[in-house]
Amino acid sequence: MLCLDHWIGGRLDHGSSGRAGTVYNPATGEAAAEVPFASAADVDRAVAAARAAFDGWSRTGLNKRATILFAFRELVRQHADELARLIVREHGKVLPDARGEVQRGLEVVDFACGIPQLLKGEFSENVSAGVDSYSIRQPLGVVAGITPFNFPVMVPMWMFPVAVAAGNTFVLKPSERDPSASVMLAELWRDAGLPNGVFNVVHGDRMAVERLLEHPDVAAVSFVGSTPVARHIYETATRHGKRAQALGGAKNHMVVLPDADLELAADSAVNAAFGSSGQRCMAISVLVAVGDAADRIVPIIREKMRNIHVGDGMQPNVDMGPLVTKQHLERVARYVDEGVSAGATLVADGREVAIDGDGFFLGPCLFDHVKPDMSIYRDEIFGPVLSVVRSETYEEALNLVNASPYANGVALFTGDGGAARRFQSEIQVGMVGINVPIPVPMAYYSFGGWKDSLFGDAHVHGMEGVKFYTRAKVITARWPESASRGKNLGFPNG
Ligand code: NAD
Repeated sequence: MLCLDHWIGGRLDHGSSGRAGTVYNPATGEAAAEVPFASAADVDRAVAAARAAFDGWSRTGLNKRATILFAFRELVRQHADELARLIVREHGKVLPDARGEVQRGLEVVDFACGIPQLLKGEFSENVSAGVDSYSIRQPLGVVAGITPFNFPVMVPMWMFPVAVAAGNTFVLKPSERDPSASVMLAELWRDAGLPNGVFNVVHGDRMAVERLLEHPDVAAVSFVGSTPVARHIYETATRHGKRAQALGGAKNHMVVLPDADLELAADSAVNAAFGSSGQRCMAISVLVAVGDAADRIVPIIREKMRNIHVGDGMQPNVDMGPLVTKQHLERVARYVDEGVSAGATLVADGREVAIDGDGFFLGPCLFDHVKPDMSIYRDEIFGPVLSVVRSETYEEALNLVNASPYANGVALFTGDGGAARRFQSEIQVGMVGINVPIPVPMAYYSFGGWKDSLFGDAHVHGMEGVKFYTRAKVITARWPESASRGKNLGFPNG
């Protein structure tokens, strides 16, 4: 079986822990690779490599840093298909979706290429007679990124292009379920000319994470994953004096008003609920149908679901791949059982979809008449399960969404501009789509939810990302008038 390695100080490193995990191909159920789990000593070596690289990298000129980012961008572009295939093999999503993931990650690299512009400070001349004030932003030092399984390329790339461009050095702890792409990205950084130690990868589980959280040389931690772990990461990292941003789980609602274009709304619901088998933090998992919208939209959705082809994401014409692991498949199937027991109407039962082999497949499921106290409504299932909740009025729908502890994304479907304007103002959610089901902000805006979907103040990428990975300093300066240096008709060259 293929044995993966960490990437420390610019080279592969097998580590010393003796502990390891198994990476599966979810489409076949076969064990594809063994991934080493870092010990505290392995993490310490990665942090030491990053610490050693920091002084040189943070003093590297902005144009030189940008040149390396442009080279990295070009290399990722050239290897995009290889990266996408790696994602499919370990995560299971379909190939076009994996290509899209790489593209969205690249957009953050595009943004970070503008770092000379992004780090410009402010300057005020003569704040007092002969005194000037100006601000600069400086990198933090070694920063760590801890990332989930569902976007093994894009989510790390929400973080490290901006962190590295700003002059920090980086230690990535990717998901142990699909870890290969992160090492390929490290090799591309090396080929782009990034000095050794600026970007490091340690694989592992909780043990590696805990060491990063307490390590005195780690200045900041970015985390993306489930809410209980996000809360723990934020609390532990900040207790150890680190800057932290921890993006958590989600339960995203799509509110459909009776005047909406129901064909568009149904297509959007199907794509947003079942794309990547529902394993997206911006997936739609609840459709709140207002008034008579439910009776009209449920049959349209049911009909469209018949065209979803489930299978190996590497095959053409497949729309939906497997779930990431057998345990996750069993967990999602348990929720479907619970929904039935609680009295919701199972309109489409994905458990009936039969696929040859031992892959972790579950077909798309649709529940109607779901009530807010049911576990299929309350919990983040993170699978291909769409729940329809019926609501009498706009206000009832709004209150339902606003009562959710999660607040990552939300969508409103309507033909009424006034209703949309009111909704965008009244809804308490971080990312809002109007007739757009998955409103993921572009790289030059910032991505992040509210409430239990984000612990900390800073969202990722965009200007909030730049601010998170730098700290501001304000300088107030007075210089004596220059004394005469006598005659000199040439250009000043001192
Ligand atoms: P997860 O929380 O299980 O794992 C995320 C990372 O934390 C992994 O690297 C994992 O090794 C590590 N980890 C897991 N348990 C830990 C523990 N007890 N202590 C320390 N570290 C631990 O999440 P996942 O299953 O990989 O990813 C799916 C989750 O991520 C979903 O909840 C999804 O909503 C969320 N997610 C959120 C966003 C967002 O932007 N808010 C984006 C993508 C995914």
